[in-house]
Amino acid sequence: MTTKLLVETRSQVDFVDIDSLVEDTVATQGITDGVCHVYVPHTTAGITINENADPDVKRDIITELNKIVPFDDGYRHVEGNSAAHIKASIVGFSVSVPIESGRLLLGTWQSIYLCEFDGPRRRSVLVTVLS
Ligand code: ZN
Repeated sequence: MTTKLLVETRSQVDFVDIDSLVEDTVATQGITDGVCHVYVPHTTAGITINENADPDVKRDIITELNKIVPFDDGYRHVEGNSAAHIKASIVGFSVSVPIESGRLLLGTWQSIYLCEFDGPRRRSVLVTVLS
């Protein structure tokens, strides 16, 4: 079963920790052992897992992505947001996390991030829990 979550992003490029939203969805589904698949149905936002202990890690990832993919670089896409499309493809659009005894088996320092690259706006996140 798939649950649609709505997440507000706060700036043009923004990584939003969605652990608690995903954990609540897993709890609601009542599946204690399986896999949780988290997916964004967008072309300028992505999903990744990375460190949530030191906020500088998130800042460094964003800074380096902005260097690798400049906002303006002679792109041809008429909408003017090619950098966002490219960054979203680099980070990808889904992650899967094992569930054991009703808990996501994230590592001690890990969180799931919705990665906004063309915000701020409201994004959908689709969470599918499989037993
Ligand atoms: Zn576009």
